[in-house]
Amino acid sequence: MIQSHHLNNKRKRLEPKETLCTFCQKEHSKNMDKNYFCPIFQLKDRTNLLVYRSVQFNKLHIGIPRCEGCQAIHDSSYFYGLTLSILITAILGGLFYLQYGIYVIFYLVFGPAFILVLGPQFFANIFTKQKNILNKKEGAKKDLLVIEMLRNGWSLTQPNA
Ligand SMILES: [Zn+2]
Repeated sequence: MIQSHHLNNKRKRLEPKETLCTFCQKEHSKNMDKNYFCPIFQLKDRTNLLVYRSVQFNKLHIGIPRCEGCQAIHDSSYFYGLTLSILITAILGGLFYLQYGIYVIFYLVFGPAFILVLGPQFFANIFTKQKNILNKKEGAKKDLLVIEMLRNGWSLTQPNA
């Protein structure tokens, strides 16, 4: 049984009892919905720690305590990351078109998807670092419950079906 979190069955998430913000280690979380809920996926069924034996999940959200300040930084960093990614996609598209004309089609097939999938979080992590707080993944990896679940065959990335 997990002592550090409380299961919210309806929302399929484990809500933290701790309130000290994992990301800045200074402020406290005052609102459950401002916490960061990290998705975690079951890869292999070898979980001995079984969180709640009566309920079977292959995907759960684990709450990481987060203050409002850090939530705002995470959200705005993601927004800037997304904006920057869209700009880069457009500028590269323009350059390709000027250079290769109609062959810009080859860029359009892979380029935008690649940049728009990986770009926003990549840049968001850089912006978050500049504010001297942990990014979402770094924070999640410090959480004892997340660490325990990763050891027991769970993953932070969605398995390919
Ligand atoms: Zn914080």
